Amino acid sequence: MAHADAINASLEQWENWVLRRHKKIPNNKRLFVLTCMDERVPIEQVLGLQPGDAHIFRNAGGLVTDDVIRSAALTIHGFGTREIIVVTHTECGMLGATGEQVTQSIEQATGVKLSEIALDPGLPEFRLPPESVSRWWKTITDVDEATVQQVEYLRRHPLIPADVSISGYVYEVETGRLRRPGQILASMVSKAFYK
Ligand SMILES: [Zn+2]
Repeated sequence: MAHADAINASLEQWENWVLRRHKKIPNNKRLFVLTCMDERVPIEQVLGLQPGDAHIFRNAGGLVTDDVIRSAALTIHGFGTREIIVVTHTECGMLGATGEQVTQSIEQATGVKLSEIALDPGLPEFRLPPESVSRWWKTITDVDEATVQQVEYLRRHPLIPADVSISGYVYEVETGRLRRPGQILASMVSKAFYK
């Protein structure tokens, strides 16, 4: 084999990487991941992902928002994605306060009324009525329930086809492991022991 063949093969591989979206090549695992922005969640390591494997969306909480739906719809319908994995985590900052408290604190700090400003600067006509503003923060009270709920939100959304696989897990910051929602092993072991 001429050496140029090896160079050409390598160039083709590189072109396919750079021109992936242009050539309609999906990410390696055809996967969209939704997770929290929290620095204690090493998401690639947790899911065993290499560069090129997945589209990864991180926000406060790893919770379904309009931009999650926007990104999921684009990756599924435009870029060949067939699976969604949601990863929330214990000790999440979204567990600490109610939406009302967050609204009050941020309105106080900034001196603006959230119902009176553009929440999305690129879509200034998108406004929330005062009574909905606190729900916009999407604070949660139970991370396991919230995980099930995010999967349900995605499952029932009309922009996400029924044959897209959707799973949800909780990453335990304290153990460095994933669990299925509600499957808290430590509490299950002690309950069984004292029964
Ligand atoms: Zn978090």
